[in-house]
Amino acid sequence: MHIVILPGDDIGPEISAATKRVLEVLDEKLNLGLRLEEHAMGLATLDSHASTLPREVLDAARAADGVIMAPVSTYDYPPVEQGGINPSAHIRIALDLYANIRPSRTRAGVHNVAADMNLVVVRENTEGFYADRNMLGGSGEFQPSEDMALAVRKISAAACQRIARVAFELANRRDKHVTMVHKANVLKVTDGLFIREVVKVADEFPDVRLDEMLVDAMAARLIREPGAFDVIVTSNMYGDILSDEAAALCGGLGLASALNAGDRHAIAQAVHGSAPDIAGRGIANPAALMLSAAMLLDWLATRHDRPLLAVGADLLEGSVNAALADSKNHTPDLGGQGTTQRFANAVSDHIQSNARGNQA
Ligand code: NAD
Repeated sequence: MHIVILPGDDIGPEISAATKRVLEVLDEKLNLGLRLEEHAMGLATLDSHASTLPREVLDAARAADGVIMAPVSTYDYPPVEQGGINPSAHIRIALDLYANIRPSRTRAGVHNVAADMNLVVVRENTEGFYADRNMLGGSGEFQPSEDMALAVRKISAAACQRIARVAFELANRRDKHVTMVHKANVLKVTDGLFIREVVKVADEFPDVRLDEMLVDAMAARLIREPGAFDVIVTSNMYGDILSDEAAALCGGLGLASALNAGDRHAIAQAVHGSAPDIAGRGIANPAALMLSAAMLLDWLATRHDRPLLAVGADLLEGSVNAALADSKNHTPDLGGQGTTQRFANAVSDHIQSNARGNQA
């Protein structure tokens, strides 16, 4: 399996090095056949290539079986004309990664606000309120006058259908419950279309229960009753916000993993950003990127019918959970005094002592 690693900016290189290391240990123990290849991008290539996403890096991502991308400091990037391409948005569009899958669950040893929750937000990734990706050319944001600005929200039947299918397939393997989240009381046309398409797909999954909630009510219910949800399917902006909220209920952004997936490509990417406030201090929590890498291994196992990769995914997630169970490994975001390095060592040690041996 050829996996491209993009180290990103600020804490990106620190947490991607830790993730690469635990993958190497996993590969050594289970003989997964991983080929890990690192490519510089982000601010590291802005001067040398006049771009934060050089063409050859995009080509390498496209050619790989999977990609692990650390967070990038997009807020500090210059305008596109000066090479400041948002790699996250650009790669998602170029590789048609339409599904952003964001699990949130309580884990032993971590301070969880929620008593017990285990849900997945399935967020449409290619349109919605994100006006920068809604037009054939240029941005869908306009400023007709100094004191007025407009943005175009796009909802298409095809995009709703395919994100709904990802959600129902996932729910079918979990607790068979999908909640669709929208704001159709106000956005009657666009969210009306979203509902129409999700309901159509629901007919193909008679064993999965479908219910619906308005996004504002959902934001409140998630706090009151986080254990009531299994799979939440929603459009781009609502999914972005609700998944951060869900993450905050169980350990925070440092544990929030995600996979951006399409039919042919997938990218493991933590939910959090590049945390410039703690960059270079060796205290960033690498757990979210490691858990995202585990999601990628699981996706690759299904796509290439390689069950051993799913064994690797389970072992990696189990080892992250084992490291989290001991508060001595906790980085400051979790209230501890641990370091990125210490956490990676704990995960590696657990992989070493719990692998089932070589399983080529
Ligand atoms: P952020 O997620 O980087 O940081 C928010 C807070 O969470 C900070 O206090 C930070 O220290 C903490 N935090 C985040 N990840 C952590 C980790 N792994 N370990 C410990 N603490 C962690 O959000 P921000 O400050 O709004 O954005 C910083 C930069 O990241 C900006 O340039 C933004 O554009 C970019 N960003 C990138 C992505 C991405 O690459 N996918 C996503 C969001 C934001």
